[in-house]
Amino acid sequence: MRAVVVFEHGGPEVLSLVEDYRDPEVGPRDVLVEVRATALNHLDIWVREGLPGVVLPRILGSDISGVVKEVGVGVERFKPGDEVIVAPGYGCGVCEFCLSGRESLCSEYTMPGYHVDGGYAELTVHPERAILPKPSSLTFEEAASVPLVFLTSWHMLRTLADVREGQWVLVWGAGSGVGISSIQIAKMLGANVIATVGDDWKIEKAYEIGADHVIQRRREDVVSKIREIAGGVDVVIDSVGRDTWPKDLKVLRKGGKLISVGATSGPEAEVDVRYVFAKQISIIGAYMGSRAELMEVLKFIERGKLKPVIDSVLELEDAKFAHEKMERSEMFGKIILATGD
Ligand SMILES: [Zn+2]
Repeated sequence: MRAVVVFEHGGPEVLSLVEDYRDPEVGPRDVLVEVRATALNHLDIWVREGLPGVVLPRILGSDISGVVKEVGVGVERFKPGDEVIVAPGYGCGVCEFCLSGRESLCSEYTMPGYHVDGGYAELTVHPERAILPKPSSLTFEEAASVPLVFLTSWHMLRTLADVREGQWVLVWGAGSGVGISSIQIAKMLGANVIATVGDDWKIEKAYEIGADHVIQRRREDVVSKIREIAGGVDVVIDSVGRDTWPKDLKVLRKGGKLISVGATSGPEAEVDVRYVFAKQISIIGAYMGSRAELMEVLKFIERGKLKPVIDSVLELEDAKFAHEKMERSEMFGKIILATGD
């Protein structure tokens, strides 16, 4: 099969297009999927550069849509020809974390494109429990753009932050995957949303997907702007880390929640502990979510209440360019690699 394979860690140049890479083997409980589309996530960059637990060679791509090509003898729910998506993460299904709906804490939690091969390929194989029907209202590109970021944002805003009507939510990076999903979900839950962007051309797009206020963080002082708009915020969705944590602590209201979901600017952030105890701020880490949460958020996607936001659709051979584009944040929404017909 054709696949983009990482044989060694490094920059975008280590993404090698291989024309005749070995086809995946199909076990008795596995589903072989002919990939139609894969969405990029920031995780792809980290895996490419090297993360603990990554075994090389590795095929990236955690968000996958496609058509079932073959199923193992023990597979009951799917047959060749079914249009499906692959869950961007799945647990063992039997441990205490999996059984209590906290699958992403499972010690065997597996993410395609990270722990096992993912979607930058013509074929990908995953256990039946990781396969879900593709929402019929979506194209393959749209379906691939949704799972990881909408699941993560749903888990953060609905489950962890328990956002209520009328609350104020700050979302850093409106054009990122977590940005486009968090803005929409926070709005759907009745919150007021302040979003930041780093480029002027993204301002209008952030308003279009529902932000009530958009701050151009390179030109405006985010902290004083938020104080002017709302006094403060109840929840911050932070995927940035070092650059934004000190600001989060300043703008959070009493009893506010800082939801940390990444560290694109660097992992070591300065924390003025006085803000944390004096305002009784909760700092909550978020990582993916459960299958149940994914199924819940997909219903809103299916009904059009939440919408996929696609920046661009490229092809497998454009993987290097796609990574460079994402590293420069030159996107608003998801970058997709489409495969085959
Ligand atoms: Zn488990």
